[in-house]
Amino acid sequence: MKPVFTLIVLLIALISCNNNNTSKNIVTQVNKQDSIVVKNFFNTALTNGQSYQWLDYLSNEIGGRLSGSPESATAILWGEQLMRDLNFDKVWLQDVMVPHWFRGEKEEASFTFNNTKYDVAICALGGSIATPTEGITAEVIEVQSLEEVESLGEKLRGKIVFFNRPFDDTNIQTFKAYGGCVDQRYAGAMTCGKFGAIAAIVRSITSSIDDYPHTGAMSYGDIAENEKVPTAAISTKAANLLSEKLKEDPTLEFYFKQSCSTLPDEPSYNVIGELTGSEFSDKIITVGGHLDSWDLGDGSHDDGAGIVQSMEVLRLFMLNGIKPKHTIRCVLFINEENGLRGGKKYADEAKAKNENHIAALESDSGGFTPRGFTFDTSNENANLFLSWKPLLAPYGLNEIEEGHGGADIGPLKSETISLFGYKPDSQRYFDYHHAATDTFDKVNKRELELGAASMASLVYLLDTYLN
Ligand SMILES: [Zn+2]
Repeated sequence: MKPVFTLIVLLIALISCNNNNTSKNIVTQVNKQDSIVVKNFFNTALTNGQSYQWLDYLSNEIGGRLSGSPESATAILWGEQLMRDLNFDKVWLQDVMVPHWFRGEKEEASFTFNNTKYDVAICALGGSIATPTEGITAEVIEVQSLEEVESLGEKLRGKIVFFNRPFDDTNIQTFKAYGGCVDQRYAGAMTCGKFGAIAAIVRSITSSIDDYPHTGAMSYGDIAENEKVPTAAISTKAANLLSEKLKEDPTLEFYFKQSCSTLPDEPSYNVIGELTGSEFSDKIITVGGHLDSWDLGDGSHDDGAGIVQSMEVLRLFMLNGIKPKHTIRCVLFINEENGLRGGKKYADEAKAKNENHIAALESDSGGFTPRGFTFDTSNENANLFLSWKPLLAPYGLNEIEEGHGGADIGPLKSETISLFGYKPDSQRYFDYHHAATDTFDKVNKRELELGAASMASLVYLLDTYLN
């Protein structure tokens, strides 16, 4: 910097000193008010929260609620009634047609090695076709990837393809490890049917070595009917055992039977409630999770937690006497797990009605200890969100960073909206994800409540500073 220029800069700095002090005071005051509100959210969530009691009911009285099931219909009525009881300004149901797949009888599977029969734990993947009633018995080819299937080609004819690429435990963010395996589950069956394989079994996507198979969505894409093969997840323990025995006897035969089927689409609903904005009622901030869950457990973490936290956000505003400037809308999306029809319908209708969504927040990563938020937005807004770090850090919300918003709010993406994902600790999530172990006893009351207060704090800051 040249000396003369430096002098001018110094003079300007001195002259504007007073002004700077004034604006600094305003900033300090605003932050002080913000920190009081945030503290109050946490105080009320932790001492007078309702999210845990609601989750107890949803999980233990209603249970697993796959789209199209009677339980999903009960959960919709429960959510609607709860929002009415909470006196939200508006509550309504939004029509959505959803797929209706159901599991049927409990699956069975076994293999024989050295004259010893080993029963193994499997579950049909969501969307799969059934096996013939007598089941399928065939030799197994173990593979690590979809690419390996393509390279084996015709060698797969008449065989059961066993996808066994494990969860990468070196990933600290377990969602990355999940992302690294999920192609096997989603596209395994689609990929091997064309080579004459007769079934696909897939290692459960978890780092936990146990005997609980983890279900999840699969797709046949647009392959021909005669190329569709049944597909199931196998527990990690059984996958390890099968892999070990296959090394000793590559000709051993695997047997499994499942009776799942797909019925015609069913009418269903997103449940929506809102607090109408006092200044900008036409500008909407949406907070939500998905009301449907897989059927093996009761869907407490995925995504009962997100549902009760989202409703609690609006309740915390009301309880603390905070009237939002923008409309704050709580959405319990239906059918995230096996179709995303709820998220798509919500975005379609928002577009058709020309609604102006300025932000959306989704909680769909479990009800664990808060770590932060991921955001997907324009650069200009990114700096604003990052400036909230010091305010949120004392609550353990240290990770405010760019990333994925959420599956259900994804279809809302546009140039103008900011999408957020609530980010709790991820280390235990995939122990339970889509398995029979995703149950209410795995949720810690305090962690769940901290999450609701974290989300309310973010929504408050968005309401205060975003236009
Ligand atoms: Zn989920």
